[in-house]
Amino acid sequence: MRAWVIRATGGLDQLQISDVPAEDPAPGDVRVALRAAALNHLDLFVVRGLPLQYRFPHIVGADGAGIVDGLGAGVRSVRPGDRVMINPGIPDYTCDYCRAGEQPLCLSYGILGEHRPGTLAEYVVVPEQNLAIIPTLPTPLTWPEAAAFSLVTLTAWRMVVSRAQLRPGETVLIWGIGGGVALAALQIAKLKGARVIVTSSSDAKLTAARRHGADFTLNHRTQKVSQEVRALTEKRGVNVIIDNVGEATWEESLRSLGRGGRLVTCGATAGPHVGLDLRRVFWYQWSILGSTMGNAAEYTEIVRLLSAGELRPVVDRVFSFGEARAAYERLDRGEQLGKIAVQIAG
Ligand SMILES: [Zn+2]
Repeated sequence: MRAWVIRATGGLDQLQISDVPAEDPAPGDVRVALRAAALNHLDLFVVRGLPLQYRFPHIVGADGAGIVDGLGAGVRSVRPGDRVMINPGIPDYTCDYCRAGEQPLCLSYGILGEHRPGTLAEYVVVPEQNLAIIPTLPTPLTWPEAAAFSLVTLTAWRMVVSRAQLRPGETVLIWGIGGGVALAALQIAKLKGARVIVTSSSDAKLTAARRHGADFTLNHRTQKVSQEVRALTEKRGVNVIIDNVGEATWEESLRSLGRGGRLVTCGATAGPHVGLDLRRVFWYQWSILGSTMGNAAEYTEIVRLLSAGELRPVVDRVFSFGEARAAYERLDRGEQLGKIAVQIAG
């Protein structure tokens, strides 16, 4: 099959199309003929080099959607020809954390395109538990939309709902609204009845964010976010902050966080090391919460909301399979509003 692979880590010029063998599904696994893939920041980190054991050539890509093509022994939940989306977080389904329903804590948790062969390929093999039938909607989901849904929506749901436990009427601050997790968090926060403040360095993205439901928009390049937040919240600060930036936003996040506030982080794109004055943590009774991916129950819930028309991924641009490197470059430049997708077939 054709696949985008890397044979060494480094710059985006390491990405190349290659012919590689397609895997056969093991018992309990399903082979999916991919129709589209979608990119995440994780995909950039994988090419640049993560501290994990790569087996080169390594097939990239975490998110994907396609048609069930082959079944391993014992698979009952899907049939060949089914149109499916893939939850890209793959646990072992056997350890204590998995049995307790907390798959993202699994001792051998892996993500497609990071720890296992990915979705920028004609075929991918995943456990049947990682598939969801693409719902039928009045305006049908496109393949790129279906591919763009899983990783960011699942990540944002766990952050906003399970970890921060955002309540109606609360105020949430979301950094960097161009990103897929941030946009999904905006949709989820509005669904939960919250007031949402979003930031970007791009006025065009802020204008678009208002169309997606943002109540207030701040340009973090030209405005002091914590001052504006205080003005918008009668000096109280926000209840919840959704931050995947890290070092560059940390201080301003803490200055924007109100009493009893919850700060949820799922990434550190601007660097991982931050300072923390513990006196502020206990006095203001803050919660600093980490979050990554989501569990099976959370995935079922977001697929239900997709079916109900309550959530829908925002696709920025679709590239052809041959142009996948250009898709990575657009992601790297941070030009997107929403998900960058790659059409693979169909
Ligand atoms: Zn496990």
